[in-house]
Amino acid sequence: MLKKERLKIIRQWYPNAITTIDSVNKLIDFVEEKLDLEPSQIMLADSICSDDVNSIQYPARAHEFLGPFKMGGLDGYPFTGLTGMGAFASHVPDDGAVLVYYGPHIGITRSGALGEIHRFGQHANSGCCGAAKAATAKLVNKQLTQGNVTELDYQMNIIEQILLAQKDRILSAKTPLFEATEVIYDAIDKRILELVSKTTYKCKYVILVGAILINSDTDMGSFNAVKRANLITVGTGEKRDIASALV
Ligand SMILES: [Zn+2]
Repeated sequence: MLKKERLKIIRQWYPNAITTIDSVNKLIDFVEEKLDLEPSQIMLADSICSDDVNSIQYPARAHEFLGPFKMGGLDGYPFTGLTGMGAFASHVPDDGAVLVYYGPHIGITRSGALGEIHRFGQHANSGCCGAAKAATAKLVNKQLTQGNVTELDYQMNIIEQILLAQKDRILSAKTPLFEATEVIYDAIDKRILELVSKTTYKCKYVILVGAILINSDTDMGSFNAVKRANLITVGTGEKRDIASALV
């Protein structure tokens, strides 16, 4: 399927989506042309869902960066916390930059169905993000209890609690899973900013890219709908919006 046809399907849900390959290319151009840095001076950390589809569809050129350091657990929430953020902050080249890419993911099939994808070798579609989908179903069916966080299923329970706290927003939405994904994005974004503010960086820049990561069927690839793109100059603390470089 042509790229423009694939984008047409994805943009029914996410009007500013582009392919993840194009996102990485644009980011590398930005780093080289605007920051005068090489990708090898950038430490990439991602906070995306552990789902194997995110490894399968990981854009090849992202490996020109150092890393990735994996901050995410289920649906991209930064479960490695302050220790994770501090760890790669201390691994970055002195004159380089830290790049944090974060966000929940969601599947969109070639027929435009939300919350599922066709995976390699399977005859039927399966849920994506499975965790967000299961937590949303539990919320709809009133099966979630405030404060229920277990050691056995810790990450899932945290996702459930995030949704439960925004129950009315999700249940009154036309498409609860779409809204739940927005709610999870907001929670991830808030937590990432909190972690960044509590971490000391010794490099030149911190680049933050928050997005909805969209997976599609095996032969469709993955897409990126950016929600935040900031360039922070470590020396001065100045924060600049660079979203226009990524669309
Ligand atoms: Zn997932």
